[in-house]
Amino acid sequence: MRIAVFPGSFDPVTIGHQDIIARTSKLFDRVYVSIVPNGTKTHPMFTDEQKLALMRASVEEFPNVEAELGGGLLTDYALRKNAQFLVRGVRNSVDFDAEQQLSLIYRDVSDGALETVLLIAEPKYQHISSTMVREMIKYGQDLEKYMPLRAAELVKGWREDHGEQ
Ligand code: ADP
Repeated sequence: MRIAVFPGSFDPVTIGHQDIIARTSKLFDRVYVSIVPNGTKTHPMFTDEQKLALMRASVEEFPNVEAELGGGLLTDYALRKNAQFLVRGVRNSVDFDAEQQLSLIYRDVSDGALETVLLIAEPKYQHISSTMVREMIKYGQDLEKYMPLRAAELVKGWREDHGEQ
């Protein structure tokens, strides 16, 4: 079994993340999307439970993908899942520089057990980030272009519950 973990903040999941998940699901037998809990992050928009609900709604269509809240050391989590691979998406050279360092750290900490696989972002999603989607949410913009449809519907429902438009 080839098992991969795709970790991230996912605050919230975007259509760019979902594209990486779709591509990853074809490469591996089993994929765990691991949501890093907010912890010390200063201004998260969504709670851990909301991020998980949005992610679960976004991976429903992929039978070999499961979303979970991570926590603790990523390498420990991945090894507990019997994963051999970590997956990350790369949009540009800034992402690449960060991921190159992280990949070396993960390999070192796991004594070579975890290999990082970097997938290059689709050009049409390269400019999409959670930061951008949070801005769209703040200013009441349509989200369907930026988030997986089911996740966009959930956010819309939560906004209406709060009496926002
Ligand atoms: P983190 O805080 O761990 O970087 P993010 O939720 O921002 O978490 O991103 C998770 C992963 O998805 C990272 O590897 C990031 O580079 C990648 N990613 C983010 N946006 C996109 C996108 N539009 N296309 C492809 N990959 C992306």
